[in-house]
Amino acid sequence: MKNIIIFGAPGSGKGTYSDEIVNRYGMGHISTGDVLRGEIKNGTELGKIAQGYIDNGQLIPDELMINILAKTYDELPAGKGVIFDGFPRTIAQAEALKVMLAERGHDMGIMVELVVDEETLMARLLNRAIEQGRADDNEETIKKRFAVYHSQTAPLSEWFEKEGMRNVFTWKGDKDLMLSEIFALLDTLK
Ligand code: AMP
Repeated sequence: MKNIIIFGAPGSGKGTYSDEIVNRYGMGHISTGDVLRGEIKNGTELGKIAQGYIDNGQLIPDELMINILAKTYDELPAGKGVIFDGFPRTIAQAEALKVMLAERGHDMGIMVELVVDEETLMARLLNRAIEQGRADDNEETIKKRFAVYHSQTAPLSEWFEKEGMRNVFTWKGDKDLMLSEIFALLDTLK
């Protein structure tokens, strides 16, 4: 399978659809949010640095994030394709990912953008707060994460468009429908 970048606002379903894609195509999965939460749980130096940013709804600085991503990528078995979930979140990260993959003779593959209205996003994140207890899923931090998404991450859509990689899927209120539309595209890439 080709590499896939799954892209969208907080609560758009990146993690959920990544799991479905991994189940169907058997590829690797890197969730940078999960990597960071793992570091925090293990009390590492990196975790201590990351916690302040995450609790505040801010992004971890690009240089640090790019190093984490490269290290995580190199630990996965080569050749099966990887789904990047939560990375890149800035144009600098996207440029760095392109270079990092090119250095290894790999390419970025395709980008899957999940477009969901903000009311649904907020409802999902508040619900996740109850179900999973994520510290950054409270209304105040969610609003900051949306603001960061709009200012720093959303402009990347245009970047992917220029790379000819962008594929947009819009939420119409039905997960199975969304999934079948995504699979219809990915099936053509196998
Ligand atoms: P997520 O689980 O993808 O929603 O990520 C949770 C938090 O981890 C984000 O709000 C950021 O603080 C941090 N984070 C995850 N991925 C990145 C990234 N690619 N760049 C910077 N910060 C990130």
